[in-house]
Amino acid sequence: MSKVKTAYFCQNCGYESVKWVGQCPSCSQWNTFVEELIQNEDNKSNNSWKNYGEPAKSNRSILLNEVKGSEERRILTTDAELNRVLGGGIVPGSIVLVAGEPGIGKSTLFLQNGLNLKDVSVLYISGEESELQIKMRADRMKAQTAGSTGKNFYLLTETSTQIIFQEIKKLKPQLVIVDSVQTLRTPLIDSSPGSVSQIRECASEFQRFAKETNTPVFLIGHITKDGSIAGPKILEHMVDTVLQFEGDRHYAYRILRTLKNRFGSTDELGIYEMTDKGMRGVNNPSEVLITQKDEQLSGIAIAATIEGIRPLLIEVQALVTQSVYGTPQRTVSGFDLRRLQLLLAVLEKRGGFHFGLKDVFLNIAGGIKVEDPSIDLAVLCALLSSFEDTPLHEEICFAGEVGLSGEIRAVNRIDQRIGEAEKLGFKKILVSKYNQKGLSKQKFNIQVVTVARVEEVYRYLFNSSAQ
Ligand SMILES: [Zn+2]
Repeated sequence: MSKVKTAYFCQNCGYESVKWVGQCPSCSQWNTFVEELIQNEDNKSNNSWKNYGEPAKSNRSILLNEVKGSEERRILTTDAELNRVLGGGIVPGSIVLVAGEPGIGKSTLFLQNGLNLKDVSVLYISGEESELQIKMRADRMKAQTAGSTGKNFYLLTETSTQIIFQEIKKLKPQLVIVDSVQTLRTPLIDSSPGSVSQIRECASEFQRFAKETNTPVFLIGHITKDGSIAGPKILEHMVDTVLQFEGDRHYAYRILRTLKNRFGSTDELGIYEMTDKGMRGVNNPSEVLITQKDEQLSGIAIAATIEGIRPLLIEVQALVTQSVYGTPQRTVSGFDLRRLQLLLAVLEKRGGFHFGLKDVFLNIAGGIKVEDPSIDLAVLCALLSSFEDTPLHEEICFAGEVGLSGEIRAVNRIDQRIGEAEKLGFKKILVSKYNQKGLSKQKFNIQVVTVARVEEVYRYLFNSSAQ
């Protein structure tokens, strides 16, 4: 009789322990350990994807010179955004984890990309949807997959890795997409699909498969905001590349970010618009992120930010109103609430503006989350504009970080920001005085106004004759 072995796993980071512990020694989270069955002793020697059906070949050591293909030939997809975040196409034998919240559009994006690959045979494995559901989804996005013949695109709705690898050995696909890693189960482990030990073992089977056959594999994995679904975090160190697909579900824009990449930079970023016909790559994001309007309204300021390595002009909207209830409200969307409170405190202390009795609402247009601190200056100006109920000049934009003592601090890549603002037809950009020496000799057609302090910004915007 075989002995069943169990272990305790941290559901947050995947740390394994022989006994239950209250706090995880690895990630310091409390109450995250769950007991899971791991494997029968009988199966232990058997754990390779190749062993599903035939005996394994033994590996022998070889000379480095004998290793073929030192020049990597990447697979280029028809999606320029995806090629870019991968560092220039798909690397053969690479294993890529695509993480994102459920319903954000991961399946749509990769189904679409799989269908668009013409000369590469693709196996799309789904444990989430039926064949009919996938067919219906594919039919809906005909417009985005117009060039596709569908002749090289295979579908498999299966969750057992044993059956999946038997099928892979028959079909020999050149690219494998798995949707999602949480639905997979390997017969080597008895725990349920989605548990830490299952996810880890299934992913490692795919990792060995990718390396041994030089076939690239995309693993789609779900995450939730509170991290209640185990998965992507545990796999981060096992895969070559981690992509994160993010965005507000209620808005059309999605960002594909590189969190880790063994084959390229992690500063890359892809932007998509989600349409009813699939994902459309956005080539010029600044144009779509700025609202088209007939007249300038108060409380709106444009920030010249950098996301990854791409300059991006983003609209900041603020609404400052008299507080009706005792406690003033502070509500943000796409911006850090504590950062807003800090900026309000700076305005209160250094500028003498009394936000204490006001409700403040702040919104970054398009549902995009901005991490670049250079957006501070635009947020501050949007707040001031709404506070004064005076629209800002429509041809001005902002790039600067705001310090605690009310100073406007320098930001990086200033030339790129100014260049993008100029390209979009802005006439003036407000930047930190300390950016002046970083400015290249390059002549811009846009007027660069430098400011050092919050008070100066206010005077420039509301008192100067330039308005
Ligand atoms: Zn942990």
